[in-house]
Amino acid sequence: MKKIIRLFIALIVLIATICIVYAIAVTKNQNMAGGDVYKLVYGIQEYEKIDTLLKKMSKMGAEEYSSKITDLLKEGKVWIALNLHDKQGVYINSLNIIKRIYIDKNALMNSVAFFEKLRSIDIAIEYLEAFAELTLVGTILHEYIHYSGIPDENYVYQREIDFYQKLKDSEFYNNLNYEQKEYYNWAIESAIKSAIKAREYR
Ligand SMILES: [Zn+2]
Repeated sequence: MKKIIRLFIALIVLIATICIVYAIAVTKNQNMAGGDVYKLVYGIQEYEKIDTLLKKMSKMGAEEYSSKITDLLKEGKVWIALNLHDKQGVYINSLNIIKRIYIDKNALMNSVAFFEKLRSIDIAIEYLEAFAELTLVGTILHEYIHYSGIPDENYVYQREIDFYQKLKDSEFYNNLNYEQKEYYNWAIESAIKSAIKAREYR
């Protein structure tokens, strides 16, 4: 009987420890994402927005990434953060227990305002819209590659740059009209420059 009680106590301690470690991982993860976060669940506006962006990512030539990230979205691994400061998104792995991709709410819902807050570029809004959207898609792709188990920034930035460089061959780009292509040409060039800069100064 005593043996059973001892076993029972050991089991309780084990469960409590697992719960504590899990809670620590969750807190750590959320704190690293600025604290104020929520899960992207089906039916909310932010979910629809990401879903639309992922469909666009597929037409931009990254079908495989798009479908894998859509799976993560459905599994509840993509979250919204209200306070990522200057980042559009980030991947955070806490103790290998909690792994999430966070997207900045402002970058997602009000992408141009997100950039205007950072720097005032004297250029027509359409160029900024193209840049903001493209770099958000690039960021989601970048953070997904980290999520898939690759920490090497050089490698991940190169995949992001490859995505921008191949964009002109995509269905998305080919369906743009002349003016929209002008906006995207600028956006592609600027996205590549800023990824190279980010890779150098990280
Ligand atoms: Zn990275």
